[in-house]
Amino acid sequence: MASAPVWLEHESSLRHDTGEHPERAARMQAIERELSARDWVGFERVQSRAVDRAVLEAVHPAGYVASIERACQGGGGFLDLDTVVSPDSFEAALHAAGGAVQMVEMLLDGTAPYAFSAHRPPGHHATRAQAMGFCLFNSVAVAARYALDVRGSGRVMILDWDVHHGNGTNDIFHDSNQVLFVSIHQSPLYPGTGPASDVGAGDGRGFTVNLPVPPGSDDLVFCSLVDRVAVPLAREFAPQLLLISAGYDAHREDPLGECRVTEQGYADMTRAMRQVGEELGAPVGCVLEGGYALGALATSVAATLAGLQEPVAAAAVSGRDDGAAPRVVDAALERLSEWWPALR
Ligand SMILES: [Zn+2]
Repeated sequence: MASAPVWLEHESSLRHDTGEHPERAARMQAIERELSARDWVGFERVQSRAVDRAVLEAVHPAGYVASIERACQGGGGFLDLDTVVSPDSFEAALHAAGGAVQMVEMLLDGTAPYAFSAHRPPGHHATRAQAMGFCLFNSVAVAARYALDVRGSGRVMILDWDVHHGNGTNDIFHDSNQVLFVSIHQSPLYPGTGPASDVGAGDGRGFTVNLPVPPGSDDLVFCSLVDRVAVPLAREFAPQLLLISAGYDAHREDPLGECRVTEQGYADMTRAMRQVGEELGAPVGCVLEGGYALGALATSVAATLAGLQEPVAAAAVSGRDDGAAPRVVDAALERLSEWWPALR
């Protein structure tokens, strides 16, 4: 099979009807329009399968999965203040998780060198048994679990650059030393979790890395945290797979966040992860999370695809902030050196 970069999608994403809601089908349509105008930047479009129920239930208890199915079959409605489902939402969520799993399958099989799984609803706020923050099933967690349990990967790294803390992913792998979860998120902001002091528990201590940043944080802050914290952590942890919870609500135009990341920032963060992935022989896959300014979402996704694809320019990812490291970077390095001495 040809080894082309892959874009995973499914039309059920458009049928997850949330009504007047920031997380709406128009998000997918905006991305499609932008990528279509760029001829999909060389990515091959693949229709995703629904997730295998056993793979889904390795993360989410069967009773919880059934409760989501029932809520949708019953006509839908609000599961909490901001998480709403419609009759087709269950199918959409099965494909969102299924797309992430299929992406991992293709990456680990070597049929795609890098890939992007773009579906609705997003996933990173969903805990094992609770839908929240527009999320039903934690697609990136299900995909990581699949890599570990079914494919025998020993170590998976998840970088979450959505402006909100990925509390669901954080909780699901809280006591695992097989998943290194690194989250850059605005604080204070919904859902209020993810302080720097939350480093995981038990065997997983040091494998949950929370990097809260203040409102107004820009490309320099996000990219420095990736270059100087996430990348060195990846080198130490040596994952067999790199997943990115790719939300775009840290963009300066986003109505839900107050950060100031630009398309260039997303391209640079992506390139840095792809470069370290190449060093380690770990493929890189992105899973769409948030992003609510339609134009910025679409152009930022396009920038990510470009970052995955462009030949790596070493100068672009190192030496960005010589001598002027944001304080958040130094604080993170200091804290993390307890578990990761090489970061000292
Ligand atoms: Zn978000």
